[in-house]
Parts: sequence; C-alpha cells; structure tokens
Amino acid sequence: MNFLRFVYVYYNMKLTLSLIKADVGSIGGHTRPSEELLSKVKSVIESGKVGAGILDFYIGFTGDDIHILMSHKNGLAARRVHELAWKAFKAGADTAKGQGLYGAGQDLLKDSFSGNVKGMGPGVAELEFEERENEAFVIFTMDKTEPGAFNYPLYRLFCEPSANTGLILNPELSHGVEMTIMDVVENKKAVFKIPEDNFLIAAALMYPGRFVIESTSNKSGPMLSITTDRLHNIAGTYVGKDDPAAIMRLQKAFPATEEACSVFKTVHYVAGDTRGSHHMPLMPVKVMTQASSNMCIPIVSAVLFSMHNGKFTAFVDAFATPDWDYYRTKAVKKVEAIREQGFVHPATLIPDELEYNNGYKAIMKEAEDRFK
Ligand SMILES: [Mg+2]
Repeated sequence: MNFLRFVYVYYNMKLTLSLIKADVGSIGGHTRPSEELLSKVKSVIESGKVGAGILDFYIGFTGDDIHILMSHKNGLAARRVHELAWKAFKAGADTAKGQGLYGAGQDLLKDSFSGNVKGMGPGVAELEFEERENEAFVIFTMDKTEPGAFNYPLYRLFCEPSANTGLILNPELSHGVEMTIMDVVENKKAVFKIPEDNFLIAAALMYPGRFVIESTSNKSGPMLSITTDRLHNIAGTYVGKDDPAAIMRLQKAFPATEEACSVFKTVHYVAGDTRGSHHMPLMPVKVMTQASSNMCIPIVSAVLFSMHNGKFTAFVDAFATPDWDYYRTKAVKKVEAIREQGFVHPATLIPDELEYNNGYKAIMKEAEDRFK
C-alpha cells in the first residue's frame, strides 16, 4: 500500500460494502455452482483479504450466480477490492472449466483487469456510509431475471403507503427520499424525489426492460444500491443474463426489515426464465437455492446481516420461515397461469427484448420469406 492510500484508509471514518456478483459456471445447465467452484472463490478472497484491506466477507449463491460481499474502508470502486473479486471469479472460472461446468467463465468478458470490474461483466452494488451503532442491512440476490425486476417491489416499498405503512409511520421515509433511475438503453440517469415525483417514477418504472432503479438515499445517507449493468450492452452481443443483486440498509431512517422483505410477496411477473425469453413470477426462495428446472422460474433471496466495525454477524435467511412457503406456492400457481399461454405474448417477451433474438430472427426470416 502506498503512503497516500494508507493515510486515506487510516483516516477514512466511512465504511464501504461492496457486493460483486458473477455467473462463472454451473452444473448440468444454468443451475448452481459446484462446491469446488465456491471453495475456489472463497480461498482466493480469504488469502487476499488482508492485502486488499477487507474487514469481512460473505460468499453465497442464488441459482447460478455467486455473490461476494465485502466490507472495507477503501471507498467506492476501489481498485484492490474489485481486483480481488475479479481474481476470485477468474480462478473460479478455471475450476469451472476444469470440471466442464456449463457456461464456465461466461460473465467474465475481458481478459485482463483494468481498474474496476464495472463494464467487465460482473455486477456491482456498493454503499459507502458511516456505520451506525447497530448497522442492519440486507442483500437481495436474484437469478433468471433482469435489474428491472426490482422496479415494482421497490416502488411499492418507497412510494406506496398501502403496500408499506412505514411511509406514514416514519417521516424520514415520507419526505426527503431520492431515487436515482437509470435508462439502461440510453445510458442516462435521473434523480427523482419521493413523493413529489411518484407518478413520474411510476411512468418510468412501468418499462423495467429499460428504466431501472439504481439507488436511493435520504439525509441519513445512502440507503440502496442495485447492480445495473446490462451484459448484452456491455458485450455488444448477449452473453449471459444480467441477474441483479442489491444492498439495502435497514431500520430507523431506512425501511424496516419486514417492510423491505414483504414487498416480494407479490410475486409479480418479470422478464427472464428459460433462454431469458419469457415472463414468469419472481419467487422468493431460501438462501443458496439452485435454479428451478421448471422453466427457470425467476428467484430472489434475502440475506440479513448485522455489522459492527465492519464485521458481519452470521446471516439470517429472510425467506426461510413457513409463511414464505405460501408465497412460493402462489408463485407456482402464477407460473401455471402464464405457461397456459404457451408461446403467445405476454408469456414470451416482445421480439426486441428476446435475448436470443438472433435465433428468433433467423426463424422469422424463414417464415417471412413465405409471405408474398
Ligand atoms: Mg444467473
């Protein structure tokens, strides 16, 4: 560590949570990483954590995506933190190749590391803040869907008192929350105020394939960060699903844990699933759940942590209680409903959003040639 970096880290009172995720291979299709792959990723982080100034870390998976959560004082987009995660995923990809796993290394789009992992394939969500005495936060991790899958549940959490009564019980949530929304097609951002701009926010979030929530904050600090990379825009061609993840701080000036989690019981329809080409309900699942073999139902898990001086407690699995079995059943019923629709919209995405649209276009070309 050079001297200036040492001074910055030593005197920096703020702590950063970096959540970096990638799919670097899974067993028998897009199901889940192997134990050997997870062990390799963990061993690289473990052996590099001191050199990268990592205070604590957690590694988990949801479907085929591996999530590395790290606490540190290096600030946002810190090179040595991102580089460690990159090395871990690279080593994991080698393990995956050695095991013949499906999609080995699929989310690592560049050969060499260059500063930070943004634009290199992995998804990144980061928050930098002054740690509270009792810092509580959640990481939401999704598989088989897209960043816009957060739009509706989080609109209801931040903008809709009939879904979140916390908005009329906590003045810090009713006034002064700002939401940054990204246009992933035009690569632009806009900041909206809640509740003044609620209808503008709703209008944008209506189109989750294009407008996605990136972050929220209020005067107590940054609250939420979501991975907003869109892989097929990065690579020029589609190379993998841009399955999102988020960090959200909880309690006091931020949403209560149960407010933040309960908005996922709606199991609303999202884009994704098999070949990233269908609409299916977003099913809340337990931590470390493999992808569903039933047309890859989109899944979300919620991992709760407390933190003190950058050290994590053991996590709590927020969707593990029996009541969530009911919502899993609800999701399966909605799967049955939409799959009765077969290949007809809205069961499938519109052609522009079909991720494998080159294949669809090739087949449609054959069909179109018959029209005279
Ligand atoms: Mg995935």
